[in-house]
Amino acid sequence: MELIFERSREGRGCAILPGLDVPAAELPEALRRGRKLHLPQIAEVDISRHYTALMKRTHGVNDGFYPLGSCTMKYNPKINDEMAGLPGFSKIHPLQPAHTVQGCLKALCMAEELLCEITGMDGMTFQPAAGAHGEFTGLMLIQAYHESRGDRKRTKIIVPDAAHGTNPASASMVGYEVVSIPSNSEGCVDLEKLRAAVGEDTAGLMLTNPNTVGIFDKNILEITRIIHDAGGLNYYDGANLNAVMGMVRPGDMGFDVIHLNLHKTFSTPHGGGGPGSGPVGCKELLKPFLPVFHQVREGDSCQFDTPAQSIGSVKAFYGNFLVVLRALTYVLTLGAEGIPEASANAVLNANYLMHELAGLYEMAYDGPCMHEFVMSLSKLKKENGVSAMDIAKSLLDHGIHPPTMYFPLIVEEALMVEPTETESKETLDQAAAVFRSIYETALSDPQSLHEAPVRTPIRRPDELGAARNPKLRYQFTE
Ligand SMILES: *Cc1c(COP(=O)(O)O)cnc(C)c1O
Repeated sequence: MELIFERSREGRGCAILPGLDVPAAELPEALRRGRKLHLPQIAEVDISRHYTALMKRTHGVNDGFYPLGSCTMKYNPKINDEMAGLPGFSKIHPLQPAHTVQGCLKALCMAEELLCEITGMDGMTFQPAAGAHGEFTGLMLIQAYHESRGDRKRTKIIVPDAAHGTNPASASMVGYEVVSIPSNSEGCVDLEKLRAAVGEDTAGLMLTNPNTVGIFDKNILEITRIIHDAGGLNYYDGANLNAVMGMVRPGDMGFDVIHLNLHKTFSTPHGGGGPGSGPVGCKELLKPFLPVFHQVREGDSCQFDTPAQSIGSVKAFYGNFLVVLRALTYVLTLGAEGIPEASANAVLNANYLMHELAGLYEMAYDGPCMHEFVMSLSKLKKENGVSAMDIAKSLLDHGIHPPTMYFPLIVEEALMVEPTETESKETLDQAAAVFRSIYETALSDPQSLHEAPVRTPIRRPDELGAARNPKLRYQFTE
């Protein structure tokens, strides 16, 4: 397929600019670019066809089932985009005086209040642009808290091995030493190993809950108590809150700080690289350290405030405001009844599909699960030579996006399936039928699965090469 630059033809275009209604001004020579700007010159019809063709070559939530574990690729109601597109929200400038954008500030205050209510926290920043960015910010709050007390010996963050991969990465980026705690046979934190690991050097714990094997840790209260008793703080990775929102609150379970993925649980389309939003909520004791541009109510109006001992800025201005608006719309449309119902459906759908597949596929842990479950293909791999990768690629031929593969690392030949709350029973039944037929093919004709996918625009790309040597720019010849 031709790139947009290759479709460019000199002189084509579709911009019809209004006539100049101010005196023309010459740009000083020194400010002019030396050579022509490389913009594709292309007619509107060809742009439209180009992007429609690209769209047809990919698989999105609007095409079909997308059970990509931990990513919550659910259907996002269109009203969220409609609200975020209102000109009063989308056509404003970040440097506009606060009294001219009171509606936007109130939306931020409202989003903070509602999400604090859902998580059991006392304050929230919307600056972070994604989940991992939220982790980084939340850990900086923990670091600032210990430092403000002159407690400098706390250099370690405890991260269970069933945590999301970003947890240890964020902790080490903040400068902490990561202490990994193994899971027990139930997929939960091993309490004895946790007790042995804590001490005067423990800055805190990061818990992904439900964890990456889809399990809500049944000892959660004991876990947070062990850390608090040692003088550490508890961080809750709430990226996958769609399993628990409206049911339990991390703030009530002993957590001091949390991040949410608005682009997963709170309904913003994602997957193409953003924009996202990873707000960080915290308890009262961490509020003085929140980043700059913290929205606050002052009487009838709203303002931005810089908390007394703020860690500073982690992103320009107020973060991705329009993503927060989508989340606010989502929370307001679901309301106090719809939020727990969404969680219940996320858990029900995952358990239903797990139950449908359990007879054939080997589950990594015995049910019930939360919003996702993990299967291990290691037996099929050993006995028939069919890998998790082969199964995943074959799903593409059936119009289903593959589950997350080879993650979590603690399960061999892992496939991590998250159906999400927005799928119907019919879709789950169709998916189960596809999984079953692929399993039968794995026994009868394993070779055909090694060749899958055969119906997609490209077959098996060089994934390592794409990750290590990505071609992100078009090389112009002139
Ligand atoms: C997706 C996810 C993250 C990372 O979020 P990004 O927005 O991709 O940075 C962190 N933790 C969990 C549990 C997740 O599912």
